Amino acid sequence: MATPIQTVMSPARYVQGKDAITRVGEFVAPIGKRPLIVADDVVWGIVQQAVETSFAEADLPVERVGFGRFATPTAIDDLVTAIRERDADVVVGVGGGSAIDAAKAAGHLAGIRWASVPTAASTDAPTSALAVVYTDEGEFIEYRFFPHNPDLVLIDTRLVANAPVQFLVAGIGDALATWVEARAAARAHADTMAGGLQTAAGVALAELSWTLLHDNALQAIEAVRAKVVTPALEKVVEANTLLSGLGFESGGLAAAHAIHNGLTAAPQAHGLAHGQKVNVGTLAQLVMEGAPAEEIEDFVVFTTKVGLPNTLTEIGLTVDDTDVLRAVADAATVESETIHNMPFPVTPEIVVDALVALEGISRGIRAEHGLPEPVRYEHH
Ligand SMILES: [Zn+2]
Repeated sequence: MATPIQTVMSPARYVQGKDAITRVGEFVAPIGKRPLIVADDVVWGIVQQAVETSFAEADLPVERVGFGRFATPTAIDDLVTAIRERDADVVVGVGGGSAIDAAKAAGHLAGIRWASVPTAASTDAPTSALAVVYTDEGEFIEYRFFPHNPDLVLIDTRLVANAPVQFLVAGIGDALATWVEARAAARAHADTMAGGLQTAAGVALAELSWTLLHDNALQAIEAVRAKVVTPALEKVVEANTLLSGLGFESGGLAAAHAIHNGLTAAPQAHGLAHGQKVNVGTLAQLVMEGAPAEEIEDFVVFTTKVGLPNTLTEIGLTVDDTDVLRAVADAATVESETIHNMPFPVTPEIVVDALVALEGISRGIRAEHGLPEPVRYEHH
């Protein structure tokens, strides 16, 4: 067994602010001279003018390739080909978590550097040194780990404010899991995604993410509804993108993300965002670890107000979907899963029981607080 170490890893530079995209060339230029941008047509339509102007100012050529929906093995390999054809020396993933993950994975395979330019604060993927690879249907395949994080993460909060509010909400769901999982990994003395034990820094950043979200999420959601940038929105964008990213990678994942990965196997939940499924995983983790009643109550009330699913109903399932729940639990507990970072042994039965239990728990708490009943999700 290797000597235990503590480690933390992070992007070389993080840039956040209103109109930050207008300075992207200035921050990409020190990393590479022949950038290849990866962005789907919708995202490119939004950022093209700002990127072209900024790249021109920095004497950078503008080369862009499109992107489909998921970071599939084929999408990643196609990007590697595109990088080699153009002899690019840095790949810049622009848009959502999947385009960014594909850019990272392709940059690694091609042996060049990579940068993340998220256009929404919908996941914490942009800062990390790993990519989540999916099938064409969006089912989880694997985590791919890289030796370093992006050289640059740049996020424009005006773009975040103009993006659909559900993107920010999903990012809040992803980020709320971070502290809950890091805390469990601490109790278990588990290794983190960074490949060693937690540092105090990794855990503290995970907790800071939680605190900032608790204090600012509802205000930030209103800011995005109004399409304006406020200090509360800036804090939530930092929590969703930087702090949750550092916190999950160097603080450790546990049950919440493993259950998310399991839920990608349920066709009924297809079409939901990463952070929406993660939120159900977080509540399931709180239930299975026997968290204090007031903590569970607080989590259900808060995430209902935020607009995140915290019942099976809201992810297209019911307590009677025994076979599906069992398949989810089996996938969530495979040997390689982070659920085994929990401070106790986790079996599929424990996962099924937590998923079944959370339906009634949430409904009861929501009713007690005069919050709306869950609305059934239907995948089309
Ligand atoms: Zn996540």
